[in-house]
Amino acid sequence: MGKRWLDMYTCQPPVTEMTIYTWCCSGKSGNNNEVMTETTALLGTLTVPGGIRVRDLCTAARPIFEKHRLCQNAGLNVLNADGTIKIHITFQGVVNLRDDDPFLARRRERRLKSVRFHQATAARKERLSRYAEFKNICKLC
Ligand SMILES: [Zn+2]
Repeated sequence: MGKRWLDMYTCQPPVTEMTIYTWCCSGKSGNNNEVMTETTALLGTLTVPGGIRVRDLCTAARPIFEKHRLCQNAGLNVLNADGTIKIHITFQGVVNLRDDDPFLARRRERRLKSVRFHQATAARKERLSRYAEFKNICKLC
């Protein structure tokens, strides 16, 4: 495998700071999307002013894998057959997008569609409700 992928930014626009967690020490060994909190095992912060590349993640992960290979905080569900730990490292960063970023434009478009759909559904329910009410009134006449 070539090494050029190591020079790729982890995201665009490049993120410059990420916090690092391991699941063995955070008590979160499942596949959830919960955002880690300060009380979980924050191992540190990775800061690269020019933007974090895949290479930076690999470099930061190597000593963590070594240190937590036999971590005593790991649950039984993350143990390998040989007693070592299935180590999951989470790098968490925040990128502030420009207002005209295509991702935000798509998100706004989806939200607008959703609002229109719910408004149309509410209007249809209201029409049906008035129709049913009118029918009941006519039955009484
Ligand atoms: Zn650990």
